[in-house]
Amino acid sequence: MKRDIRYVSTRSSTPSYSFEQALQLGLAPDGGLLIPVDYPNHTSQIAPYDSYAAFAYQFLRPWFEHSIREDEFRALCETAFSFPVNLIPLTGPGFGNIYVLELFHGPTLSFKDFGARFMAAMLERIAKKQDSPITILVATSGDTGSAVAEAFASKNDIRVVLLYPKGQVSPLQELQLTVARQGVTACRVNGTFDDCQALVKDALQNQTRFNHILSSANSINLGRLLPQAVYYAWAVATLGQAPVFHVPSGNLGNLTGGVLALKSGTSIAGFVAAHNRNSFFPEFLTDSNASARKSISTLSNAMDVGAPSNLERLRSMLTRKEMRSLINGVSISDDDTLTAMRSTYQQTGYMADPHTAVALASITGRDHLDQDLKRVVVSTAHPGKFPELMRETLGTDPEASGNLEILREREIDVEEIAATAAALRDVINS
Ligand SMILES: *Cc1c(COP(=O)(O)O)cnc(C)c1O
Repeated sequence: MKRDIRYVSTRSSTPSYSFEQALQLGLAPDGGLLIPVDYPNHTSQIAPYDSYAAFAYQFLRPWFEHSIREDEFRALCETAFSFPVNLIPLTGPGFGNIYVLELFHGPTLSFKDFGARFMAAMLERIAKKQDSPITILVATSGDTGSAVAEAFASKNDIRVVLLYPKGQVSPLQELQLTVARQGVTACRVNGTFDDCQALVKDALQNQTRFNHILSSANSINLGRLLPQAVYYAWAVATLGQAPVFHVPSGNLGNLTGGVLALKSGTSIAGFVAAHNRNSFFPEFLTDSNASARKSISTLSNAMDVGAPSNLERLRSMLTRKEMRSLINGVSISDDDTLTAMRSTYQQTGYMADPHTAVALASITGRDHLDQDLKRVVVSTAHPGKFPELMRETLGTDPEASGNLEILREREIDVEEIAATAAALRDVINS
């Protein structure tokens, strides 16, 4: 019988796992991250398509060819990718050849909706087939939690426990995380994002302490990476040539999606990993002895990550030489982020949220770059998620989003816990 592509740990080449197993494992049993053994090389053969979902179906199909029926998989893609993706050319002095890839038109207004919705659809299939309920654990510095909570809220046999660091998300992000949802427990943790992430890792590695099957929806889960490869391929197909992608980066899950697209045959000229002042990865690219450290708070707080969890994956997917020739790393200060927001708005009329602005600053700050290449700024959040900051910085309100207005009417439900394994266990087993 023919099998789909298999997945192995970054730390050993055996055993290999199916996608379903990888999705439920989150982490490999040896503590490594799961990566594909090989890649389909099919992107250039994608036929004309009439919607993003139809493109996504063709891009993702080879990964699931032997395990999911064609009509079922087509419907799954239509459910997961049910919102628009836009590629907008910026026009204004100094902005030639710059495009914005808007990934924030999903229900929670960040690019995390792609991974969360695809994962939810795939896990619901799995939960239907087996008897035991699944608990999804997710550590979030903002957008992941709400995307996952929203994507899974209406799914049967799946419960979500989400952890976020107290005092380190914006009031609106907190509202998005804590509105009451069926089957979702939100925990405000007395600790940092890195603490939350460590708690999730620990729980996944000690499954026997729990009376549920645990899985993770963090960007360490492979199920989130595949759908994050699709929009890179779609943007290249739409442009008709190989651009440089400027990616607002934290845990490097989005960038890893780009590398997956490249490995699957998408023509990409290069990547710029645009980080805020949490500059470990840009330093690591030039100095392999650079060391991870505690995260610091910035305006682009969904990117406040001291030790990017997907680095181990990138290092396994690319040789050091490939990594250095393909990826440039840049660290941008809050001041330069605000300057990029203002100058982009003044020159082009385009309003970028602070995360997207870090990627914009990574272009304007590097004018020695090749001017003939097209540059795609990956836009990860809707500016309407940051109303106070947008107003202060640009002197005008961002366009409202209907999805956010609805939230204000909903009930809140949140538990506050210590950053300890015991506190998390009580929540999971309750
Ligand atoms: C999560 C997030 C990022 C960072 O993405 P990574 O995959 O962690 O690198 C950037 N911007 C926004 C708005 C996010 O929510």
